[in-house]
Amino acid sequence: MDLSRFPRRRYTQGVTPLEFLPNFTQALRNSCGPSGGPNVWIKRDDMLGLTPGGNKTRKLEFLVADALAQGADTLITCGAPQSNHCRATLSASIKEGMKCRFVIEERVPNSYRLDASGNNFLFRLLGVEAITVVPAGTNMLQAMQQVSDDLAGAGRKGYIVPGGGSNAIGGLGYVACAQELQQQFFEQGVQIDKIVVGSGSSGTHGGLLAGFLGNHINIPLIGIGVSRDPVDQDPLVHQEAQAVADLLGLKLTIPREAVLSFGDWWRPKYSMPNAAMVEAVQLLARTEAILLDPVYTGKIMAGLIGLARQGYFKRDENVLFIHTGGAPSLHAYEPEVLGLTGLPA
Ligand SMILES: *Cc1c(COP(=O)(O)O)cnc(C)c1O
Repeated sequence: MDLSRFPRRRYTQGVTPLEFLPNFTQALRNSCGPSGGPNVWIKRDDMLGLTPGGNKTRKLEFLVADALAQGADTLITCGAPQSNHCRATLSASIKEGMKCRFVIEERVPNSYRLDASGNNFLFRLLGVEAITVVPAGTNMLQAMQQVSDDLAGAGRKGYIVPGGGSNAIGGLGYVACAQELQQQFFEQGVQIDKIVVGSGSSGTHGGLLAGFLGNHINIPLIGIGVSRDPVDQDPLVHQEAQAVADLLGLKLTIPREAVLSFGDWWRPKYSMPNAAMVEAVQLLARTEAILLDPVYTGKIMAGLIGLARQGYFKRDENVLFIHTGGAPSLHAYEPEVLGLTGLPA
């Protein structure tokens, strides 16, 4: 597939590593009982560019290029108080000499604190121009449009980046990742049997799916929901994958059965810690010295661990975990991640 006809900025030099995790694989296998566990590999998208990287960096390469093509001087986006996406968008705006404004959705009333740690601290350090805090359930697109209108009134031009950077243009970032993976599998001589990927605003899962189908890569993608059960998540992923395929002009109908996700690891709520997340974060840190995060990748890896213990993966199957980043928010959850507080299973 030819991605070169889409404008793209680059925020990472080269490709992110594809690595085997020997110590983690052994520890997981020891906890899986007689059925044994899979070989676990990792795609280090936590090592992408932008203070620090994560999956939003790949989407922003195409979204910011589009903003520049439209003559925008300010990026406007939205997210939760510890949004990795907001931090990465701000970071991209700095590289481009643009300004950046956020609309932050306070999902728990009065939970937003200007002096909070983690990504919130980085918003201030990196110099966000303005933050509008709105209550849960606010129409975020409308709130961002209001910011854009205010800027227009001052003779400026805003560009609205959707939540999570997940639209057809943003999804191209994960089509690029699919192509990068295809080349790495070939060059490293690795045969991956299944891929575990986080599924939130769905640009990552949906973009990868469109990229895999478009490139005839037949490795099943297993989404782990971070905020929704499959009944709500799968249609979003399907819609995103179809929008990406259409933008690419693939003349491809995404089969509904190509979308698969599990919703068992995100509870009690989006961004609220649980015990399985803590186990996953600690296990990867203590076997491979790789940091996961409490909101996304800790729960996603908990899904991989849980599925392995249920015997979902065959012994010695090669399972690839896509590390989508997020480590800055670890610092906003230190006591929970160290196991110093009681948590729901
Ligand atoms: C945003 C995010 C995800 C979810 O990706 P989507 O493309 O929104 O589905 C996963 N992991 C991390 C660290 C994220 O910041």
